[in-house]
Amino acid sequence: MDGIDFLWQQVTRQMADEMQLVDSRESDDAISCYCCGRPSGAWVVPYYQPRIDTYLRTDVPICAPCNALFHGSYRYMGIEKGTPEKPAVPGKLGMLVGCGLIVAQQQSILLTNPGWDKRLRVATQPLFELHQVSGKGAMEYACHLIGGLSEEAFPLLYISDIGRKKAELVMNLKLTLSKAQIHVCSGELLFRINTELLQAIREMQQADKSGWKKLERFIVNSCHGRIAPNDEGLHTFLSGNPEALAIARRLPADPHEKLQLMRVV
Ligand SMILES: [Zn+2]
Repeated sequence: MDGIDFLWQQVTRQMADEMQLVDSRESDDAISCYCCGRPSGAWVVPYYQPRIDTYLRTDVPICAPCNALFHGSYRYMGIEKGTPEKPAVPGKLGMLVGCGLIVAQQQSILLTNPGWDKRLRVATQPLFELHQVSGKGAMEYACHLIGGLSEEAFPLLYISDIGRKKAELVMNLKLTLSKAQIHVCSGELLFRINTELLQAIREMQQADKSGWKKLERFIVNSCHGRIAPNDEGLHTFLSGNPEALAIARRLPADPHEKLQLMRVV
């Protein structure tokens, strides 16, 4: 199932009662969502909301699951601008820059920072549990929480930063099927965290701090093309350090993914 549909089925469909949804089956023309690009036959529900595109100044259809990112609601999402006493603009899920989100089978947690937390708490019928943790600590918190979940909690969706680029976010949404490999989604990128690899790195960080620092430097430098794959120093180091070699062998092939992983550990 597409991540945006999963989000709709688990949580955001509650907002349908506030949306102006139209049934795509009543149209003779083919309809595709302006945000996710999917034709109406591929949506989990046949409904969409016509919205005005500010650049094209024209009506565009947004499928109901994507529409949940655009929908402003004081009741469900609190405020975006203003104060609790004088609300100016209603909150929108797709505008929560710096906030993370974990949607599992039985629980949905929005990871907030102090600014958003205050505004989200204005909601009288909140869609998510709120937990205040941001920055680097937020991903650590999420990985720890996901690692501790039982099998029944999966599949789940983990967004590290909701941001405000809705179409990009929707494109990068990929469900996490088990705790063995966590998909970290955001409007900027999608990358994977192999939980066993993360654990092995944490163990090496504790047991052999200087060895880890050396390996980390090799990894980062090779990703930036600063050392050649046949670098002698690297080979000598790896052949004398079985833990480092085991970690090096399990790293993702893609340099961007390697660097992302280095930011998490
Ligand atoms: Zn869509």
